[in-house]
Amino acid sequence: MDAVAPEISTNVALTDMNTLRVSASAEYFCRLSSVDLVQPVLQFARARGLTVTALGGGSNLVLAGDIKGLVVVLDIKGIDVLASENERLDVRFGAGECWHTMVEHCLDQGWYGLENLSLIPGNMGAAPIQNIGAYGVELSDLFVSLDAIEIATGQERVFNREDCEFGYRDSVFKQRLQNQYLITAVTLRLSRQPQININYPALKDALGGLQASPQQISDAVCQIRQQKLPDPAVTANVGSFFTNPKVSEEQALSLISLHPNMPWHVQPDGRYKIPAAWLIEKCGFKGQRYGNVSVHQHQALVLVNHGGTGLEVLVLADKIVQAVADEFGIDLVIEPRVYGRE
Ligand SMILES: Cc1cc2nc3c(=O)[nH]c(=O)nc-3n(C[C@H](O)[C@H](O)[C@H](O)COP(=O)(O)OP(=O)(O)OC[C@H]3O[C@@H](n4cnc5c(N)ncnc54)[C@H](O)[C@@H]3O)c2cc1C
Repeated sequence: MDAVAPEISTNVALTDMNTLRVSASAEYFCRLSSVDLVQPVLQFARARGLTVTALGGGSNLVLAGDIKGLVVVLDIKGIDVLASENERLDVRFGAGECWHTMVEHCLDQGWYGLENLSLIPGNMGAAPIQNIGAYGVELSDLFVSLDAIEIATGQERVFNREDCEFGYRDSVFKQRLQNQYLITAVTLRLSRQPQININYPALKDALGGLQASPQQISDAVCQIRQQKLPDPAVTANVGSFFTNPKVSEEQALSLISLHPNMPWHVQPDGRYKIPAAWLIEKCGFKGQRYGNVSVHQHQALVLVNHGGTGLEVLVLADKIVQAVADEFGIDLVIEPRVYGRE
């Protein structure tokens, strides 16, 4: 290839690149530290008819088998203030920046807005894919645009908020544009004035209902998360394995009459959101182990891998989906993306 030829390896183990620690390999693999390297890599893939799969921190995917084609890690770094007016500023982050490191960096700079999203694993480039959210804030609340390159054509495109079609743990990149773009940078609108949001009950409780600084909010979020969620560096997992289902008012009222203790939250669209963890726990899965995989003993939404395969994890997930459907008539949806399933 030409002067900026990227290094492309074959048959590369991905075990240390996915937080479920599933052993699987990539047929072709490369790590790109510069946006200039994207075009030659896409040409390489096109010339050989290879599918291209983007990989970030591997904290929201299940490798059900080896990945055919080319796996690309976009390790592109960079933090640029694009525009600044009064207290508002738009900051562009390279796709390869670690999400939580960026939350900390912004706090240090006095750029506020990200603190409720502290300690979410993964990289900046993946954050729009499922519109990451936690403790009452979603990426879409801060999102300005993202820079992407179409895999099939190499064409560059800027997506604004409407283009991304964000929803609850959802975006156009999980729907009709799935696996079609490589995201190279994400621009967020931050504020030099603290943007305090402590409406989320667990956060409000942790802060004693008092006003707090952005740093105190970040610290409280980190503390709650460390208590509630297993650290993927110690316990192989991908966080919440299922999204919280939304059901019609009619279905919710019928379920509440049968299960008066069932928690629910009415959504702006009138539907009722039911915690998937409660449904899974009621079906008796919490803390249960099935061979090499288990449901976490303190958090029923988290599936843990004890040296099993991605398929074993998915078999357990299917068992849970079936049980919840039989018991409550609700279809749970898997949150992480599945790759390598033939
Ligand atoms: C312990 C734990 C807690 C978590 N808590 C939360 C939470 O509170 N809220 C939440 O929303 N999520 C949570 N997650 C899920 C996960 O952290 C996020 O979804 C995160 O954004 C995934 O980032 P990643 O870099 O690891 O993506 P990966 O897992 O590597 O990839 C996820 C998807 O994004 C695609 N992708 C990655 N990078 C790019 C790119 N540059 N261009 C195009 N496509 C790309 C991949 O192809 C894949 O489809 C949690 C996960 C864990 C393990």
